[in-house]
Amino acid sequence: MDRGDGADMLSRVRGHRRKGGLAMAKMLRCGDLMPGCNAVIEGKDEAEVMAKGAEHAKTAHKMTTIPPDMAAKVKAAIKDKK
Ligand SMILES: [Zn+2]
Repeated sequence: MDRGDGADMLSRVRGHRRKGGLAMAKMLRCGDLMPGCNAVIEGKDEAEVMAKGAEHAKTAHKMTTIPPDMAAKVKAAIKDKK
């Protein structure tokens, strides 16, 4: 009885996942900025990666503040997640 609805729901979920909202998932290899660091930071968008990156820099690299030039480098190093 609910088969039709189930299939419809599945295709809707698939369509939603393909679009993925407005932002594309992003990732940042910390090693691009901090040679020797193997951390990979992922987020649903650039803002999330930046936030997680700041947190990682704080905890792993003892950077309590991110200077503007560093923030620009971080932004440039953020890539689309494949
Ligand atoms: Zn790191």
